[in-house]
Amino acid sequence: MIIDIHTHTFPDAIAAATVDKLQAAAHIHPFTNGTIAALSTSMRAAGIAYAVNLPVATSPRQVTQINDTAARINERTHETGVLSFGAMHPDFVDWYAELGRVAALGVRGIKLHPPYQGADFDDIRYLRILDRAGELGLVVLTHAGLDIGLPDADRVTPHMIRRAIAATKFAPLICAHMGGWRQWDAVEELLPDTGVYLDTSFSIGRVTPNGDGYPWTETALSLMQEAQFLRLVRTFGAARILFGTDSPWGGQSDAVERLRRLPLTESEQASIFGGNAARLLGL
Ligand SMILES: [Zn+2]
Repeated sequence: MIIDIHTHTFPDAIAAATVDKLQAAAHIHPFTNGTIAALSTSMRAAGIAYAVNLPVATSPRQVTQINDTAARINERTHETGVLSFGAMHPDFVDWYAELGRVAALGVRGIKLHPPYQGADFDDIRYLRILDRAGELGLVVLTHAGLDIGLPDADRVTPHMIRRAIAATKFAPLICAHMGGWRQWDAVEELLPDTGVYLDTSFSIGRVTPNGDGYPWTETALSLMQEAQFLRLVRTFGAARILFGTDSPWGGQSDAVERLRRLPLTESEQASIFGGNAARLLGL
């Protein structure tokens, strides 16, 4: 069973406009129009059974509504295959009660995105969220490393993740983009003994430009070297690596094929493709 732990969708009314705005800002090709229906179609084509939708609260005002929407999306998982996490923002005043409500709604985890939320990952406002999530058994997935849409915001470094883990009784923590987008040497050095999980989204393969004429360089288009990816799998252990695509920013079929072609054992592939996520999400 294949589970994509890292995807994005948007409410139908704003999906197309939101994806259009984001692709124009980052100059990358979107592989769906951002709706749940389009993600489901893409999943069926790629042989993916479940995809986790990761909403980002870019302001504290959005938190409650995002979490209500997540619960509504989860009422239809049996039809769509899409399961949504909730969100939290470091400046949401009622964070303690809201995280309790997220858990009570049956939502399995939350997404954090420090570059878009204006705080460092080892800030006390995130540490208290991590502690509370741990208490409630919520999985936390955070953006990690640099963000292609906000290249100057360096708010989730492997150092910060290490400090945050040391300071909290942490919930299962998944660090996106193999632990730190474009900070992979530091991930190898600083995170193996922390117990964090890594997702594979936007790490191997290449960036797909949107063809708007932006002067991409070869260095900017190429992502992690395959040798480093394999080294990370072996160093962390396949049990701590989760398949993710960042759809619509990565193509799901391409990502499945790419991982299948890597020289990993059958049992390593099974863990990464879905075994680990099924265990974490209780599927
Ligand atoms: Zn993402």
